[in-house]
Amino acid sequence: MTGRGRLTAAALGGVLVLTGCTSFAERVADVADTPAATPTEAPTGAAACPDERAAPDPDRPQVELSFDLSEDRRTVTGTETVVFTPDLDVDELVFRLVPNAPGSAEAGSSLVVDDVTGDDVAAGSYESLGAAGPGGAYVVELSDELAAGDATEVTLAFTLTLGEGGFDRVGTDDEVSWWASGAPLLAWEPGIGWSRAPFVDLLGETASSPVADTRITVEAPAELTVLMTGDQAEPTGAGDGRRRWTSREPLARDVSIAVGSFTTASAEVDGVRITAGVLAGDRQDPQEVADATAQDVERLAERFGPFPYATLTVPVLPDYGGGIEYPSSILLASAAPVVLLHEVAHMWFYGMVGDDQYRDPWLDEAFASYAESVEGALSPAHVEQALAEEAPVGGTMADFPTDAAYVETVYGKGAAALAEARDAAGAEAFDTAVRCYVDATAWTTATPADLALALADLPAATRVLVEAGALDEDDLPD
Ligand SMILES: [Zn+2]
Repeated sequence: MTGRGRLTAAALGGVLVLTGCTSFAERVADVADTPAATPTEAPTGAAACPDERAAPDPDRPQVELSFDLSEDRRTVTGTETVVFTPDLDVDELVFRLVPNAPGSAEAGSSLVVDDVTGDDVAAGSYESLGAAGPGGAYVVELSDELAAGDATEVTLAFTLTLGEGGFDRVGTDDEVSWWASGAPLLAWEPGIGWSRAPFVDLLGETASSPVADTRITVEAPAELTVLMTGDQAEPTGAGDGRRRWTSREPLARDVSIAVGSFTTASAEVDGVRITAGVLAGDRQDPQEVADATAQDVERLAERFGPFPYATLTVPVLPDYGGGIEYPSSILLASAAPVVLLHEVAHMWFYGMVGDDQYRDPWLDEAFASYAESVEGALSPAHVEQALAEEAPVGGTMADFPTDAAYVETVYGKGAAALAEARDAAGAEAFDTAVRCYVDATAWTTATPADLALALADLPAATRVLVEAGALDEDDLPD
């Protein structure tokens, strides 16, 4: 997804004719890496291309999350402390309450803010944004305007109820409980301001959040294992038959936590430590999952540059038919190799190169789908068929009437447009330009204009993306 990584037809109720997605890898696997057309445009080192990957903002938010999972594994009580230094003047803080999304609420999930404290806090209230339960956002009103560059510290106490397990960010099942986007999410877009995007009924994300230096503590029944975002320390005893797990990820837009009867295995590639966990009732071998993840990291790094994080954890959930990406962690709910590959690609596109998942869902979903082609190029017939779709790739989450339409256009046509653009510009020139885009926008919230700038010397590629409705004329540099 633009949060929800990759869907299989099963996850969409089997209604889908996925020209671009589910069967995409199977369909193209027999077409070996087709050599791209002869490069017609050489990379020229445009001004958009930095010498090295951009460093994260040193004034990015600092977030401390503490979660306590109940004995029955259905309720999480938590606190969140945020030190926030805005780059624009503000008089409020807006937190998105993702578990109150309509679909999650139907399964019984909810996120309620119980208390808010802080020296600058005047009051807190909910806003609906089309979500269920108490609402889709919690707005903290400040007692005075906070000037750009000044910091404030706010602490929220909250209760998260985990609904029935399914293909969602939060849930509980026989052997596992998980919550991702499970805490109030700071909805800030640097340079733009607060995101108040409406919730939609589609199976995809609508959030926008900045990278934050994030510390996580999870307390859970001692017999369970925690796999989460960040570099995890060994657990310690917390008394009463419970253990305490901690991790830190200095560059997390959001976090994912899975707590279950996991058997784990690890692998290492390019200095990245990978940990996979498989539930007791799952026949998969965790070592095979870890090794497959390592292989995906390696081949994606060849195309897009170094893997963004020091660690990657992959808890394997029951097969709900897809995967959901989070910074340095993946909720993997499918055994299909292409789902894992897609979610690993999201570490570059969403994790590092962020986007407003409501406004520009294609910036992460089309790229993660296109990235599946490191395993085998898309067939020309497939590309042609996908590009014949009418709907523009660059729609917002409100522009798609159904999950099928959303997936077909954003994932399927979006990936085909990027593949076609690569073909038009020449593979080497296009890959170089995409790396420039990745390096220039690392750890920010990217926009289509950022991509257009990186492609400025490749008019043939730009033309393809404009024709597909991914870029529009306003995105192009003067
Ligand atoms: Zn995806």
